[in-house]
Amino acid sequence: MTTEHVNVLIIGSGPAGLTAALYTARADLAPLLIEGMQPGGQLTITTEVENYPGFPEGILGPELMDRTKKQVERFGTRFIFDQITAVELDNRPFKVTTASSGELTCDALIIATGATARLLGLPSESELMGFGVSACATCDGFFFRDKEVVVVGGGDTAMEEAQFLSKFATKVTVVHRRDELRASKIMQQRAMDNPKVDFAWNSVVTEILGTQDDGVTGVILEDTQTGETREFPTQGVFMAIGHRPNTEVFAGKVEMDGEGYIRTVPGTTKTSVEGVWACGDVQDKVYRQAITAAGSGCMAAIEAERWLAEHGIE
Ligand code: FAD
Ligand code: NAP
Repeated sequence: MTTEHVNVLIIGSGPAGLTAALYTARADLAPLLIEGMQPGGQLTITTEVENYPGFPEGILGPELMDRTKKQVERFGTRFIFDQITAVELDNRPFKVTTASSGELTCDALIIATGATARLLGLPSESELMGFGVSACATCDGFFFRDKEVVVVGGGDTAMEEAQFLSKFATKVTVVHRRDELRASKIMQQRAMDNPKVDFAWNSVVTEILGTQDDGVTGVILEDTQTGETREFPTQGVFMAIGHRPNTEVFAGKVEMDGEGYIRTVPGTTKTSVEGVWACGDVQDKVYRQAITAAGSGCMAAIEAERWLAEHGIE
């Protein structure tokens, strides 16, 4: 097995990892970026992105990430299409194991492995993702002005998404698999007091109806008590059944919160291990936006660059 040493290793090729690469490459640090199994990150599974500054007409998610990668390549970042399977962070240089390109060591490590929205796993859900199905109301709510939508989930995220969507949609139906919400009392109350928000209790979505051309037209709801199914017309489906940070390989290596998000020192991207930074959704369960991920990628790069200079590593 080969072992290669680099100054700066970046894990993840979403907006956070690519921005960290852009800044470290322009600082002449010759970063190496491991792309993971989803080159370009979460935005590659969506269609229109209208809230990323600089694109007055909006831009398709995959195109935005392609263009960002091209911008990064101009300054000499090396990309490897591979997955990190293990890290050793007790001593510097840090050791990182990849699935197929051997081992790497690095002086500075930037973790940008993102998070994954939990989905129901239905074939129709993946087919219509970006065509009426979404996992982000902040991103896509605007497209549902004067339409009826469904929010799946019963936690705080579902209540927050329902509340936000009610600004655009004529009606929001929260589909929950039980007859009691998991959300905090105050969030429940706000949703229940909202005249545009309705609830489908003891219900699960077993299929999403529609096509990529026509968008979503409805869902099949199954009653969890009786097993009965019914067709429920709707034009949008928002999944709000939680997120999972992609941090399995870092478990026990850097400090995380109870949900597995990497903890960073407030106002910085420093982790509990000196020489390791975390940026983007892997350390952010509040904003979860491409622009905030990119912003924190920039922070991680600048912090790493200064730390390397202080330690005389060029
Ligand atoms: P991600 O984009 O999640 O990228 C993570 C990267 O890490 C991937 O490249 C993956 O391959 C890599 N990786 C993971 N594990 C490993 C590993 N073990 N080894 C190596 N690499 C690994 N935000 C907006 O601002 N506007 C929108 O319109 C918008 N629409 C969205 C639509 C959808 C359907 C979704 C799911 C999200 C949307 N978001 C939107 C949110 C936005 O995509 C995220 O906030 C952003 O992508 C987070 O960037 P990131 O770089 O932190 O991580
Ligand atoms: P969550 O609390 O884990 O809730 C997930 C919800 O989705 C639950 O109601 C769960 O049902 C449902 N669910 C899970 N898998 C499902 C499936 N396969 N099919 C149907 N339903 C499914 O997640 P969250 O709402 O994203 O919140 C995560 C954390 O962030 C929480 O700690 C929350 O308090 C916090 N948060 C806070 C705020 C706020 O205070 N403003 C906003 C958002 C999030 P069950 O209830 O039956 O398990």
